[in-house]
Amino acid sequence: RIRMTVDDKKVVTDYFNTVGFERWKRIYSPTEQVNRVQQDIRRGHQQTVDIILRWIEKDGNITEQSFCDAGCGVGSLAIPLAKLGARVAASDISLSMINEAQERAKLEWGVIPSSLSFQVQDLQQLQGSYDTVLCVDVLIHYSDAQLISLLDSLSRVAKRRMIITFAPKTLYYVLLKKIGEFFPGSSKATRAYLHREKDIIDSLQQRGWQKIRNEFVKTKFYFSQIVQLEKVILSG
Ligand code: SAM
Repeated sequence: RIRMTVDDKKVVTDYFNTVGFERWKRIYSPTEQVNRVQQDIRRGHQQTVDIILRWIEKDGNITEQSFCDAGCGVGSLAIPLAKLGARVAASDISLSMINEAQERAKLEWGVIPSSLSFQVQDLQQLQGSYDTVLCVDVLIHYSDAQLISLLDSLSRVAKRRMIITFAPKTLYYVLLKKIGEFFPGSSKATRAYLHREKDIIDSLQQRGWQKIRNEFVKTKFYFSQIVQLEKVILSG
């Protein structure tokens, strides 16, 4: 079982350093030419980023807080968040993604500000403690067998707030995924795993987290459940 877990992570890492990197880098670049499906996914993902930024702005105090963006990709969320004045530690398991994110940050600022850092890091090896931990469109790459230990790792470094996304396991999406798997070529992408919202919320609740907000983003080919949780402060 442990061996399988390690291999799954290796598959994800290899993918996001090679074909997956090329694919997602293009999807996450508004100016690059992509096909219609990818355009749709780009649009959905941008909605997710915008909603999360809106929530964070609404909660206020951005400049006073530390953020950890686990699995930051090319920096689609970390960079605009740093532009709002936040202290952001962005990390990703893929060296290619981190290199690209750093390039993008340099385009933005010339020299990357000290408030924004990039690191090649498996989120399960994260150290330290952050006011907010973000983990966007990462869990979809892992099966239920790994879900709990991933959530555990994220929860461990989060002090106050967590914002995570996942692909919800509802009957509709289970069927849609089944249909999708009939199409030739779909297996070239990484596997996508759906998760039950209850599994995620229950396991975080056991670790002292409470769901505060949620929003479902859905386009034709992109769907993502965004959840914000806060640490329950016991008083009295
Ligand atoms: N969060 C970014 C965003 O929304 O723009 C990127 C999403 S991309 C679909 C998934 C990212 O998760 C990839 O960059 C991949 O390398 C990263 N990733 C996958 N497993 C990871 C792990 N165990 N630790 C850190 N990053 C991981």
